[in-house]
Amino acid sequence: MLRNQQWVLRVGFCGFGAVGKYERQVLALPKYSFKGGVHPLHDQHEGKTSTTKLPIRAYVPDSVDIPMSMSIGAPATPIVQVGDHVKMGQKIGEANGFVSLPVHASVSGEVTAIGTKVLLLGGPTTIVTIKNDFQDEWTELSPLGPVEEADPTKIVPAVQAAGICGMGGATFPAHVKLTVGEGKYCDTIILNGAECETHVTCDHRLMIEEPQRIVDGLRAVMRALDVKRGVIAVEDNKPDAIDSMKRAAAGREGVEVVTLRTKYPQGSEKQLISAVTGREVPSKKLPLDAHVIVLNVGTAKAIADAVIEGKPLIDRVTTVKGCVKDHANLRLRMGTIVADVIGECGGYTEEAGKIVMGGCMTGLCAPNDQVVVSKGSNGILVFNEEDAKGYEENPCIRCGRCVEACPIGLNPYRMKHFCDAGDLKGAEANDLMECILCGSCSYICPAKRWLTASFKSTKEAIMREARRAKK
Ligand code: SF4
Ligand code: SF4
Repeated sequence: MLRNQQWVLRVGFCGFGAVGKYERQVLALPKYSFKGGVHPLHDQHEGKTSTTKLPIRAYVPDSVDIPMSMSIGAPATPIVQVGDHVKMGQKIGEANGFVSLPVHASVSGEVTAIGTKVLLLGGPTTIVTIKNDFQDEWTELSPLGPVEEADPTKIVPAVQAAGICGMGGATFPAHVKLTVGEGKYCDTIILNGAECETHVTCDHRLMIEEPQRIVDGLRAVMRALDVKRGVIAVEDNKPDAIDSMKRAAAGREGVEVVTLRTKYPQGSEKQLISAVTGREVPSKKLPLDAHVIVLNVGTAKAIADAVIEGKPLIDRVTTVKGCVKDHANLRLRMGTIVADVIGECGGYTEEAGKIVMGGCMTGLCAPNDQVVVSKGSNGILVFNEEDAKGYEENPCIRCGRCVEACPIGLNPYRMKHFCDAGDLKGAEANDLMECILCGSCSYICPAKRWLTASFKSTKEAIMREARRAKK
């Protein structure tokens, strides 16, 4: 039985049983890397070997439950009715404001229900259920053409209309990221191909199978913002992806591929910028304050699809592994129910104790297998009862390993003291709001202190207080 974990354990914890079997290690600073961090599974493969070589294959379900909220920002409002026939790519949800994304039908067929469902975060989410007629009939699309010929002024609006957000898990609307405010400038676009999160291999496969589209997406953004330097950054545990991206980048203006040392959380924006450019993003500031924009390689591919073919974001690649018969990298339509995905993978091999959407370090625990694939779903990991077991935290022994591991240079054990005491001001004064919730400190802690979970809940409490004070 799945535990009824309605709420999220942001980690180092959700897969901690599985990760914790391995020796832990803090790594030193090499070229194209950053200070601190950890190496979660101690080898170069980070639990990825069972899916690294598996080609992407498509699975299309009988029906989809498409959430009106799949990204950071305001949810969309449904603009279809029960009984409507919709085509693939047809807009079914209208965005509500600038930090909000439209939602599109991921299959063609009939709208059979509009209701709510509890997914990963927050309360119930509005969903539109579409019964698939398997005709795969596309709505009329408005492509801009080849990226080197597309009107640069139309590229960001096309990204917005396509409903594209960060596909590495962060789900920040891409057009917002690509809007450079007054007095700011961007001189470098970095494509994040690090995929430092454990277990997931969707980006790795994408770089091997669709490298040209990824470079096209990068070039589209470079042209839209008139940026001369585009960097595709890949960890050194993916030599085949590095080769593939180098071949695709050859001869493309301003595009280069760099190799990063494999280390977690190398794919985190600030760490990536530091590794690639040597620049530090100032405290409480954004990558653009260091004149850089970071996009995931999957996001770049989606941008290329939107520009070249006019296609909105209706599917994505997701890695499925753990206690399922066949591990896989699947191309899944938005709104595919996880239970259907598990069925496509041959079903559970043993009693599932926990389903994590994402990887071990930053994934979110699903309340059950009725949750759906959305724009940020890079992984579905199924743990058995044993690996899903929780653990007791022990007193801090002041070993300092969490301090060494923190990529931001924070003092996790001291922050935890203030969090445990409910001292929001003290926690803030000790830079809690700088914490990126990467889970490195929790992972490395020999006393198994619940550091990241505590930081997450205290950060939320501080933000709630701030909102209340504003009213
Ligand atoms: S919180 Fe954990 S890692 Fe940090 S000093 Fe205490 S025992 Fe060591
Ligand atoms: S304190 Fe925050 S940023 Fe530092 S290691 Fe822990 S979770 Fe990561």
